[in-house]
Amino acid sequence: MRELRTGRRITYLDHAATSWPKPEPVIEAVVHAMTDAGGNPGRSAHVLALAASRLILEARTDVAALLGVPDARDVAFMPGCTAGLNLALKGLLRPGDRVVVGSTEHNAVSRPLHALAQAGVRVDVVQTDSAGRIDPDAVERSVAEALTTAVVCQHASNVLGTIQPVGDLADIAHAAGAYLVVDGAQGAGHLKVNLATLGADAYVASGHKGLLGPQGVGVLYLAPGVDAVELTQGGGGSNSEDPVQPTARPDRYEAGTPNTPGIAGLAAAVRLLMAEGDAIRAEEQRLVRMLHEQLLEIPGLRVLGPPPGEERVPVLSVVHARVAADRIAFELDAKYGIAVRAGLHCAPWAHETAGTAGCGAVRFGVGYGVTQGDIELAVQAMREVCA
Ligand code: PLP
Repeated sequence: MRELRTGRRITYLDHAATSWPKPEPVIEAVVHAMTDAGGNPGRSAHVLALAASRLILEARTDVAALLGVPDARDVAFMPGCTAGLNLALKGLLRPGDRVVVGSTEHNAVSRPLHALAQAGVRVDVVQTDSAGRIDPDAVERSVAEALTTAVVCQHASNVLGTIQPVGDLADIAHAAGAYLVVDGAQGAGHLKVNLATLGADAYVASGHKGLLGPQGVGVLYLAPGVDAVELTQGGGGSNSEDPVQPTARPDRYEAGTPNTPGIAGLAAAVRLLMAEGDAIRAEEQRLVRMLHEQLLEIPGLRVLGPPPGEERVPVLSVVHARVAADRIAFELDAKYGIAVRAGLHCAPWAHETAGTAGCGAVRFGVGYGVTQGDIELAVQAMREVCA
């Protein structure tokens, strides 16, 4: 439980939407960027611009180190995971190409794929089971049906918590000469990611969820040689005389002035995760397991996704047989000051897969700073709201 400056108390269990509160070093880094490094990076040569350039260089190096990227130039900063996924998908796929994708995707994937389908890309969905587990054999069979340009998957579901077998899917995609594009929004930070070995050709992370950074920043990793066409040109400081967008990474993908304060905050968060990530992840897992087991004891409550004991990210969605999801979320907020999210969570496919598209669900997102007391309060509140 935290107290806002207004005096209002809040138990924040909406980490899958965005992490809150941000760690103190993140806030300090944002302020530092705006006060002491407030120039435009990569443009002018005065002290404030150089400080901003240095800050971004170091941030890129740290993000690459956290995610196991050997060459930091393969990391591009984005305005978010959605922007990075749009770039990866639209930058790699052309009319006539084919994509194989799982059935639990967020609309940051399903909407760009819908737009691409209208432009002549064939999109084939492989149905997962109702817990969101994709069967690699089913993906392999689908890939074998026709020439495939890309397999697209989530690292983890933002509704069901299910973790996908990314390494197996990479092997299947590569054996067929296809790319593997991974939506890492719910993976990075909550899971240890090593992009040197994971096998993803494109991996996109959200800066503001498990990575604990500010909103408005994300990370796009493109493996060496993966030639995604940039979606935006211009606005950058390198090769000013040239009419075309630079082809060198990361400049190719970072048109315009970057979100320097956001990137500074993300870098501070990444340093925290490098020092304490294992402990943070262990505590998230302990608390989500406790929440899971205790919620299962509430009569009429169904917990979506894999059962306790099976691995998941710290996301837990529930539906009650009688009390509507939005009613539960409203009462948790109004009566107990507990912040969760009800509805379809930008992921109608995942809810169709779980059989909850008609009613939606209440999602608990556990993350950095959540305490056992928060979980106990949430369980007690759920017992009362669902009684
Ligand atoms: N993909 C998944 C699975 C998500 O949960 C989200 C955020 O809700 C996104 C993509 C979009 O991330 P961002 O907010 O960084 O654009």
